[in-house]
Amino acid sequence: MIHSSASEMATALAKGEVTSVALTQLHLDRIASVDKDVHAFLHIDTEGALAQASAVDAKRAKGEKLSPLAGVPLALKDVLAQKGVPTTCGSKILEGWRPPYDSTVVANLKKNDIVILGKTNMDEFAMGSSTENSAYGPTHNPWDLSRIPGGSGGGSAASLAAFEAPLAIGTDTGGSIRQPAAVTGTVGVKPTYGGVSRYGLVAFSSSLDQAGPCARTVLDTALLHEAIAGHDPRDATSINAPVPQVVAAAKSGDVKGMKIGVVKELNGDGYQPGVRARFEESLELLAKAGAEIVEVSCPNFEYALAAYYLIAPSECSSNLARFDAMRYGLRVGDVDGASAEEVMNLTREVGFGREVKRRIILGTYALSSGYYDAYYGSAQKVRTLITQDFTSAFAKADVLVSPTCPTTAFKIGEKSNDPLAMYLNDIATIPVNMAGIGGMSLPSGLADEDGLPVGFQIMSPVMKDERMYSVGAALEAALLSKWGAPILSKAPALGGVA
Ligand code: GLN
Repeated sequence: MIHSSASEMATALAKGEVTSVALTQLHLDRIASVDKDVHAFLHIDTEGALAQASAVDAKRAKGEKLSPLAGVPLALKDVLAQKGVPTTCGSKILEGWRPPYDSTVVANLKKNDIVILGKTNMDEFAMGSSTENSAYGPTHNPWDLSRIPGGSGGGSAASLAAFEAPLAIGTDTGGSIRQPAAVTGTVGVKPTYGGVSRYGLVAFSSSLDQAGPCARTVLDTALLHEAIAGHDPRDATSINAPVPQVVAAAKSGDVKGMKIGVVKELNGDGYQPGVRARFEESLELLAKAGAEIVEVSCPNFEYALAAYYLIAPSECSSNLARFDAMRYGLRVGDVDGASAEEVMNLTREVGFGREVKRRIILGTYALSSGYYDAYYGSAQKVRTLITQDFTSAFAKADVLVSPTCPTTAFKIGEKSNDPLAMYLNDIATIPVNMAGIGGMSLPSGLADEDGLPVGFQIMSPVMKDERMYSVGAALEAALLSKWGAPILSKAPALGGVA
């Protein structure tokens, strides 16, 4: 049962073939047996999950009408507030903090009776591409435990690939849902900015952050997408419009007559041969399914990474100022005679890791008087140019595509001392966040040179998220016939990690 998709589990629950308590227990057992090796979870909420599961079972027994994913377990990225449950954002500074409220994403999960198993590991405050920046130790990729599972949401992606959960929530500021999906052979979607509420999502870079669904199939991500999306008056950037019909799109998977634009700038020499080969094959499969493949050019994407690494740190330097040792988690040096400033300085010194400090310093510098126009101001202009590139590209194509990342999963430790090499991982995912559009990554096969999964990225215009689901479902179906089985079934994790 743990190897099924979330929708298969939902069907079994609806037919009474399994109870949510039994299904939840199966996943808790799986976590107990493999998570010492994978380390996808920071906190496992055994009691809370089983209580939620038994409440759904009771509702079902009474014949209540339930939502499509009712009773299915889920892994929640530790950046989203869940009432009474530890929420650390992978940081020591939040150790011991239990939010007094639910984020809107969590409230929506509960409303849909989706069972929350626990909180997943992540790079500290979602800054990173490998989960190595977690203050609680890295997560390991179930395909090869010596490799990274991507980041920042490596815990969520690894939990899916290791069959510890069939559903997960991630957040994506520059690629943190899509890149982990790509390197673990799972599916991850960053919805249109404003499509899913940010209320209760601990802020990294507020103009870029967006929560989204992660799963093992396109349909499962669509079902979860509809469960968590929708207007929320508590988030000023939430879009007040109907949720895109992504489930219907994922079910039909029809791409006949659709124009698919290959972004010239996101498929060059810097991409691993196996990544490019799987990308080209996927294009052929989509063409066979009836889509028209065209080439588009987005010349300003070249500057996206540089602009992102000014905008995101700038916003982070101001967002993280709230961790002042007076509110939330950690407080260090609170001895008689110590001033509030001394306690704050010491707490931030001890509580934040190296990457977070690096970003705060970068951002503070970029925003400082005399430099603001040259750095932050220029980066904002680049952001506008990137959005304009997307607008012209979408005039020629319904969706845009590229490989999700330049390489497959690298080794733990390989890039940890080279921040620039780490940042380059996000070269193909960042433009999407800069323009606030939707982006999906789904597995497109394994690279010949290392046998590791490769991600295919689909981008859709603002609030046209259903388009990436149609294309994703079409490609997933074509790949299923080609491979004869889901790509994830080739992962060693299937036989049991370790
Ligand atoms: N890897 C990128 C960064 O370090 C993106 C992170 C994210 O999307 N949260 O900023």
